[in-house]
Amino acid sequence: MQILDGTAVSAHIREQIKAESMKMLAEGKRAPHLAAILVGEDAASQVYVGSKVRTCEELGFGSTLLRFDASISEQALLDEVRKLNEHPGVDGILVQLPLPRHISSDAVINAINPAKDVDGFHPISQGRMVLGQPTFLPATPYGILLMLQHYGISPSGMNCVVIGRSNIVGTPMSILLSRNTPTGNATVTLTHSKTRNLGEICREADLVVAAIGQPRFVTADMVKEGAIIVDVGMNRIADPTRKSGTRLVGDVDFDAVAPKSSWITPVPKGVGPMTICGLMKNTLLARQLAN
Ligand code: NDP
Repeated sequence: MQILDGTAVSAHIREQIKAESMKMLAEGKRAPHLAAILVGEDAASQVYVGSKVRTCEELGFGSTLLRFDASISEQALLDEVRKLNEHPGVDGILVQLPLPRHISSDAVINAINPAKDVDGFHPISQGRMVLGQPTFLPATPYGILLMLQHYGISPSGMNCVVIGRSNIVGTPMSILLSRNTPTGNATVTLTHSKTRNLGEICREADLVVAAIGQPRFVTADMVKEGAIIVDVGMNRIADPTRKSGTRLVGDVDFDAVAPKSSWITPVPKGVGPMTICGLMKNTLLARQLAN
């Protein structure tokens, strides 16, 4: 078993992004700039946005963090998005999800200028992705493809099972793995909560991508010997042995599944850092295209 080390791969890719950003500055150009919107006090969202903003600083990117109270109206938030759309110094716009219940995340995402949609969630970005046209790929599936590519793992011809069909992870992952591209060409089964015989389906998989949000859902009996396992899940569970009283686990029962796998992502330090890489690569691209 070998580890798909998101921390190491992302450090390597971040070096390349930083070099591009420094080159822009050396040429007298403005560095890429990411604007992040955070609504409310959700602890996990604050951590995620914080690490995205810190990564911008590391890469020499500009960043703006706009924080709003959970009581902000949908209209007021849409107005903020429009201001960022029109701001010539902002290349990428990120709205941290989830949003409070009274705000439609679809409405907010749809309001983002597709040229600044660095999370790749806008219907135009997703439509282009489905058609295989150049676009901003959703950050998490993009990061996973970058990681597989880094390790020389080609999904071509593999039997891949994606568990979970969200618009931001599972569905785009299944599409990207099945496309006729160097990071695709797999035969993909997209599964969800209504799937029958999930264990049986997973046991046929050469590559399993788990994006469900259920701690340690994928057990050793669900995977075949030598399978590649990508665990997207980030679930906080109680752990009285920790000072914080909690710890992060994935959707895969790592200790039991790892010995059967050929490659596996840990949680944390697997897909999480790669998602940020995907976002930063998209932000750099947005800046390059804005020229
Ligand atoms: P969603 O909650 O939007 O979707 C979950 C999906 O899992 C749904 O399609 C659901 O099926 C499916 N599902 C739930 N229970 C089962 C089950 N018992 N059997 C089969 N399928 C099931 O989740 P996200 O895609 O947004 O996130 C998934 C996980 O990934 C979460 O833990 C999240 O925190 C994490 N995440 C991690 C990121 C990272 O950077 N590491 C980035 C984004 C997410 P149905 O459609 O039928 O309801």
